[in-house]
Amino acid sequence: MTHYTQTVNELARYRAELSRQEAQEYVERELKCPECGYLVAYAFSDAKGHFKIKCKKCKTVSVLNFAYFYRRKRNRNQIFFMR
Ligand SMILES: [Zn+2]
Repeated sequence: MTHYTQTVNELARYRAELSRQEAQEYVERELKCPECGYLVAYAFSDAKGHFKIKCKKCKTVSVLNFAYFYRRKRNRNQIFFMR
């Protein structure tokens, strides 16, 4: 049982280290809770799709689409969606 757990942890650590190295070339973006503005996570510029977050401050569960958090020039129509 212990051996199994160690193997899983070693594989998870290896994958985490690979992910960290790959992410060095990407830009980090702050993701904030849509209700209270608390910083809930960081996303890298290659992230795609939807994900679910739970705010540690106000406990709100939100579904966010990475497409709305790309770094780009803001215009008046986009300010509402980008924080
Ligand atoms: Zn919140």
